[in-house]
Amino acid sequence: MGKKLTSRAEDYSKWYNELVVKADLAENSGVRGCMVIKPYGFAIWEKMQAELDRMFKETGHQNAYFPLFIPKSYLSKEASHVEGFAKECAVVTHYRLKNAEDGSGIVVDEDAKLEEELIVRPTSETIIWDTYRKWIQSYRDLPLLINQWANVVRWEMRTRLFLRTAEFLWQEGHTAHATEKEAMEEAKMIMHLYADFVENHMAVPVIKGTKTESERFAGADETYCIEALMQDGKALQAGTSHFLGQNFAKAFDVKYASKEGKQEYVWATSWGVSTRLMGALIMTHSDDNGLVIPPKLAPIQVVIVPIYKGEDQLSAISDRVGPLVKELRAKGVSVKYDNRDTHKPGFKFNEYELKGVPIRLAIGQRDMENGTFEVARRDTLEKMVVAADEVVDRVVGLLDEIQNAMYQRAKNHQQQHITKVDSYGDFKKVIAEKGGFVAAHWDGTPETENRIKEETKATIRCIPIDVEEELGSCMVTGKPSKYRVLFAKAY
Ligand code: AMP
Repeated sequence: MGKKLTSRAEDYSKWYNELVVKADLAENSGVRGCMVIKPYGFAIWEKMQAELDRMFKETGHQNAYFPLFIPKSYLSKEASHVEGFAKECAVVTHYRLKNAEDGSGIVVDEDAKLEEELIVRPTSETIIWDTYRKWIQSYRDLPLLINQWANVVRWEMRTRLFLRTAEFLWQEGHTAHATEKEAMEEAKMIMHLYADFVENHMAVPVIKGTKTESERFAGADETYCIEALMQDGKALQAGTSHFLGQNFAKAFDVKYASKEGKQEYVWATSWGVSTRLMGALIMTHSDDNGLVIPPKLAPIQVVIVPIYKGEDQLSAISDRVGPLVKELRAKGVSVKYDNRDTHKPGFKFNEYELKGVPIRLAIGQRDMENGTFEVARRDTLEKMVVAADEVVDRVVGLLDEIQNAMYQRAKNHQQQHITKVDSYGDFKKVIAEKGGFVAAHWDGTPETENRIKEETKATIRCIPIDVEEELGSCMVTGKPSKYRVLFAKAY
């Protein structure tokens, strides 16, 4: 098993990096900023994908696939979009290598220079809207509700496993609508859908809101977001949904004939969540012993470990466990019976604790005699003895209980870390000492927002959608403000 994890109190960031690697979720690769997602990590991501995909389809979206490469000229068509992404683009300039004439190895073949350079997609609005021009002619073609599961590349300078990588996996929705209202409703609906998924499946509470102009997506008129709070008091943007107005329709000349026969520009949205959600999951729930995974996303929900001496004992235990496994599976529970004789029970206990399996059942000689199982919860580390004939119901009930308890614990933490302040002095103190979200008045200008960011590293995470009107004055400039916005240091 190797040595214990660094504790969260000692070094949260080190704890996170160690945990991701030790729990077999992902590791750094030979490519700067790009990670290898290992089978256990990918299994969790696949569960997230499956549920999100179901939710997208249920709300009328269809999947499609667009190219990895985007001609440079496409990217430049929407001015603020290219400006936002230019600094982090990977560019393909050549399509062939050759042996160097001086025998020094393989080099780029200068004769194979691309006529037009290609950008590895950082996001696909441009290539998609170039396609939508061909797909959309009349109001009958609308709305167009498309999602793509893909990888994208943003040349990030400071990367962290899952949270911020140069290449990441995500889904990107791109929708086209006849009216402004419809597009706006779609963007909001997706924000609620994301919040529903993150809260009810990941057990991670979020705050829904809109971004300020300077934090808005490049090319958007409005960005809706969900913001989560990690255990160390830092915020994490967990998902974004953009109302793009007619910006991309105008840049790519996408018009439709209305019912009245008029040519109108199309209205757009785009929205995405990424493998960053894995980071949110890990950082919200896990502890110094390892991962804690909510039952709805756990690749293995229940593990059964036999404690025995010799083959006869194992075979008697297996006879008891066999029907139990079947019964649990019939109830839709994913179960693993770990009867490997190459590892001791203690080793197995540690491994499943590290990997965050929600429930562990153990059965030894005393349980065999008493007709019981030992049931252990990963989230609270509580153990209980349960009669064999009650174990199926108990396990099924516990899975729900654990899911709810994990959400409630995270919600309490979030609630305890939203602090109202009225002076810049208090603001600095809370940001530096307590962390979490700070609700404060701001004058609405990017200048003040920037100054706060430079002086405290805190940014405006969002203007909550349910923000209450409250007349006040900006904590920095004293200018009037109508409501409080949420600041935090963020990942
Ligand atoms: P955006 O297209 O910038 O609105 O981002 C869409 C989603 O991807 C958001 O949920 C972001 O938090 C997430 N995201 C952005 N950059 C990265 C990155 N470098 N690594 C992982 N996720 C990212």
